[in-house]
Amino acid sequence: MIVVMKPFATKEQIENVERRLTSLGFKTHPIYGEVKTVIGAIGDKSRVDASSLSHMPGVEAIVPILKPYKLVGRELKKEPSIIEVGKGVAFGGKELVVIAGPCAIEGEEQLYKVAKAVKKSGAKILRGGAFKPRTSPYSFRGLEEEGLKLLHQVKQDLDLLVITEVVDTRDVELVSRYSDILQIGARNMQNFRLLSECGKTSKPVLLKRGLSSTIEEWLMAAEYIMNEGNESVILCERGIRTFETATRNTMDINAVAVVKELSHLPIIADPSHGTGNWKYVSAAARAFVAAGADGLIIEVHPDPQNAASDGPQSLKPEVFDELMQALKPIAQAVGRSI
Ligand code: PEP
Ligand code: MN
Repeated sequence: MIVVMKPFATKEQIENVERRLTSLGFKTHPIYGEVKTVIGAIGDKSRVDASSLSHMPGVEAIVPILKPYKLVGRELKKEPSIIEVGKGVAFGGKELVVIAGPCAIEGEEQLYKVAKAVKKSGAKILRGGAFKPRTSPYSFRGLEEEGLKLLHQVKQDLDLLVITEVVDTRDVELVSRYSDILQIGARNMQNFRLLSECGKTSKPVLLKRGLSSTIEEWLMAAEYIMNEGNESVILCERGIRTFETATRNTMDINAVAVVKELSHLPIIADPSHGTGNWKYVSAAARAFVAAGADGLIIEVHPDPQNAASDGPQSLKPEVFDELMQALKPIAQAVGRSI
């Protein structure tokens, strides 16, 4: 439920209500507005007589949260969340954020080459997988900690933010040491232990949509992270499984508008995994920016033909640069900048 405080309720009144809620077994999530403060109370409300709270000084109203996702939803927080990830880069603001880089970190030369190129083209965050979830156990599964160290070295040398995927609860602390953002991949969207572990960190989390997940399941996965106290969640539409085989996945462009209505969290798009084919990446990227996505994550490789993973969907640096140029007028047309 939501406890709506009266305009200009005092700090003491707010604290008293929080204390009362805590004593009743609720987790409290206050959202301080300039005039009004609301307190999200998450817990079992069947044991509580809400009218006892409505008599407390400073309380205006008690409103139930109807949706199953309480912290992620718009019922509790009306304004869009802006997720700061460092160096003045934020998801959900006016400026779109583009993440780019290879699917997997293969070595120093490859990573520097691609990092320099994507930075020059305007990407703010470098991506690169060190732990790769692969369909076949015989495929390249990443350089693991050696890859994380390379990513961190490039981050410092080139002054870029970095993101990499964490696939196991045992690695959350390790990956957090090297990466600015924790990526949770499609295959792990419902790995609830992993979601909770990432929720206990102070790192922003990029949560990709599961291969066959509904939007509600995806938002509930985000709720797992937020329920542990980490409010910095960025959603990522990366295509879902349908009957269509012409592309690797089917990108759900509707998800942008639906998520924006249901949630205050930012949403970005991954047209690389969404299409699986570099030829279609640009069209999908442009469409998602036009639809109101808050950013993009794109695979770029200096030599896609010889990439260790996801070469067919990786853009060459010059093609990525063309895309970045093409996105500018589209961003402008929807009131954003890039
Ligand atoms: C990736 O970003 O390289 C990746 C494995 O993505 P997804 O989890 O969306 O398949
Ligand atoms: Mn990939």
